[in-house]
Amino acid sequence: MDIYSPVSSIKGVGPRVLEKLNKAAIFNILDLLLYFPRDYEFLSGNPEFEEIDSETRQILTCKVVAIKKDVRTRTGKFLSTIEFEYKGHKVDCKWFNQPYIKNSYRVGNSYNLMGKFKRVGNILEIINPTLGNRDALTSEIKPIYTLRGELTDKLITKLVMSVLDIVDIGENLPKRLLDKYNLISLDEAIREIHFPKNREILGMSITRLKFQELFTYSMKLLLLKNKIKKSNNGMSFPWNNKLNELKAALPFNLTEAQAKVVREILRDQKSPYPMNRLVQGDVGSGKTIVALIAIYNTYTNGYKSAFMVPTEILANQHYEETKKLLSQFNVEIELLTGSTSNKEKKRIKERIKEDKPLVVIGTHALIQEDVEFNKLGLVVTDEQHRFGVEQRSKLINKGKRADVIVMTATPIPRTLALYLYSDLDVSVIDELPPGRKKIDTRFFQDNSRNKAYNLAKDEIKKGRQVYIVCPLIEEDEKEQLNSVESIYKKLKDGVFSDVDVEILHGKMKASEKDEIIGRFKYNKTKVLISTTVIEVGVNVPNASVMIIENAERFGLAQLHQLRGRVGRGQYESYCILIANAKSNTTKKRMTIMTESTDGFFISEQDLKLRGSGEMFGMKQSGQEGLLLADIYEDIDILRCARGEAKLILENEDSGNKRMVKEISLGLEKSSKYICFN
Ligand code: ADP
Ligand code: MG
Repeated sequence: MDIYSPVSSIKGVGPRVLEKLNKAAIFNILDLLLYFPRDYEFLSGNPEFEEIDSETRQILTCKVVAIKKDVRTRTGKFLSTIEFEYKGHKVDCKWFNQPYIKNSYRVGNSYNLMGKFKRVGNILEIINPTLGNRDALTSEIKPIYTLRGELTDKLITKLVMSVLDIVDIGENLPKRLLDKYNLISLDEAIREIHFPKNREILGMSITRLKFQELFTYSMKLLLLKNKIKKSNNGMSFPWNNKLNELKAALPFNLTEAQAKVVREILRDQKSPYPMNRLVQGDVGSGKTIVALIAIYNTYTNGYKSAFMVPTEILANQHYEETKKLLSQFNVEIELLTGSTSNKEKKRIKERIKEDKPLVVIGTHALIQEDVEFNKLGLVVTDEQHRFGVEQRSKLINKGKRADVIVMTATPIPRTLALYLYSDLDVSVIDELPPGRKKIDTRFFQDNSRNKAYNLAKDEIKKGRQVYIVCPLIEEDEKEQLNSVESIYKKLKDGVFSDVDVEILHGKMKASEKDEIIGRFKYNKTKVLISTTVIEVGVNVPNASVMIIENAERFGLAQLHQLRGRVGRGQYESYCILIANAKSNTTKKRMTIMTESTDGFFISEQDLKLRGSGEMFGMKQSGQEGLLLADIYEDIDILRCARGEAKLILENEDSGNKRMVKEISLGLEKSSKYICFN
């Protein structure tokens, strides 16, 4: 069976099931096999009577003693009762509204019952248990899948099982590597990650699959780099006097660091090789202006630039800033985002096809297939941590010979940068513009949050504004976290009853978000309660307080980004981390934040503190398009995998060549890093 054939070719997948699967982005067999469990339920079997607690699900092998007569309850439910026996204790078992249940049981036979059993005196009680595996199993690991749309665990389990019955998953790593790193086969890994026999083998399959991902991922980066190196047919954009006019028009002098990076970029633009440069610079270090200089140079040479950002809020902001600086030099600028009207889109796309210079600012919409750039000379992506290598390679292919600048404020540790951006040259803006005040960062335990609100109130009295960031939009029963809505309710009628408070989150329509940001920008709103949608780029210099709720839930790099929303003007600013800090690690993390404002230092510390994460907590964050591996936590695996990928590319024996070809083919057919024939 071909791994890329559609799921409709699986027996039992009719139009209805097909629709459900497609809605969950499962289109072919590979998608299904890579739909890994999010977690597992570890059912332990046949414990001693005294050890049974009603909180955990268990499997007990019980013998049927008597099947009782069905009754109707007073509320009209249909009640079936069977009496079992377990290790000498009576088990009282009830099912509601399942009249056929009795047919599955025979007096005198034993069955594996699964569920939460409750001890009541000397007997056990359970309601609606399920019937476990028929085999004399005494323990079981059940996969739990992320249920997108109308999927159920049962459906996925059934489909994955039936596919695994017929596929043969070929090995794609040389035996030498499997032996060296003690890796199990790909076939076994895929089978065991869905239906593990025990914890040990589950751990081994996760390791194997992480290795696979990071190996293929490294291979992709390295191949990309080779491809770029080979193409020396880039365009050359020499600089001219117009650049000096621009520099003279700037409202400030460039910092030393900015000037150095501008020189590196201009040198790349002048050379006939396509530029591929990463510009790293801490929040507020002034990356935008550096990009605008490169864009202007491209423009004066008669070419187009595309300036891409991850959010519409940011696109609008950049559009305004770019207009402010470049319109005076008659530079033509367009804004293209998801909420641009169709008519406008059509007009802009026509302009993009013309043989004239232009600056286009936009969101991902910019790299969608139907935008055909004519004379594209430069592509800048801002806040690159939101664009993975996948988009990067798309871009490079789109622009053909265009220069590429990616800018990120996520200060990743240098060691890691080497792995993640090995296809790029790196420039660092390691200096902030003069006069920036250090942001006074404080950490409060949950129960002293009022101190934070009081400080915010004082600042509002002085004319300043406040952000409050929460990890969730709405209340969630399971998670004891503060949400935008609950905090809003509490504060609106409480401490901030006399000022304008608004909320902002990612589920809102783009136009609504813009209006809210607009009101905050123009100081109509004093307090903005938001999710992390404001994490990148938002620039409101009058805001001086950032309060972060459940700070323990955010990564340090993210906290650092959020903190970067304040301290953007001349005012003394504050960042207050409110956390329910029980563990030492949380306390340490908070201390790192209160003691340092150096993004690179923070990211190094973060990496050190993470250490080895828990093995079974699957992250589905989709970081860099990876399903299982976490580039921070799995840096050791990344190191090995990358080393091996590099060696294989450098040694052109026939086995290696075939392997590289197979992986390249797989990467063309699937955007995932675990691909096989
Ligand atoms: P980031 O690197 O976070 O994207 P921005 O480009 O948004 O930073 O710049 C942050 C602020 O600093 C902006 O208001 C910008 O005008 C200002 N700025 C940039 N460079 C300088 C400089 N050399 N001197 C003074 N202010 C600067
Ligand atoms: Mg920026």
